[in-house]
Amino acid sequence: MKRDLNSIAALEKAIAEKFGNEAAMNPKLLWNSEKEQEYLKQSRESQIKEAKLENSQQKIELDGVLIAKKLINKNVERHCDYCDRYSFNRDEAVYLTKYGTCYKCYIQYIMDREERWKNGWRPKMEQKNGT
Ligand SMILES: [Zn+2]
Repeated sequence: MKRDLNSIAALEKAIAEKFGNEAAMNPKLLWNSEKEQEYLKQSRESQIKEAKLENSQQKIELDGVLIAKKLINKNVERHCDYCDRYSFNRDEAVYLTKYGTCYKCYIQYIMDREERWKNGWRPKMEQKNGT
């Protein structure tokens, strides 16, 4: 028992020399705060890592400009199936999403003939048929 008390006293003395009296008063506090600091540091680092990863996943460089990948995917969807036209017009995106065509093709093939379209009719595209 006496030896234990002595070794605790020696430990407190060593801590006091290293960290100052305040820490020696409560070694547990020191340990906790060290552990907390370490935890905070690690959590900060992992947050930074995650943020970097997220960034690299969500943004790609296009002509030297960072663009959200989501946007690029949307642009791919904005490719008209019938006239091979790319549309970046927000209003046209509605037709592209709904029918897979641009507004021009919608007017030409679908408007007032939506039933026909729904029944599976599609315009014959010379380019695609190779004739
Ligand atoms: Zn089109």
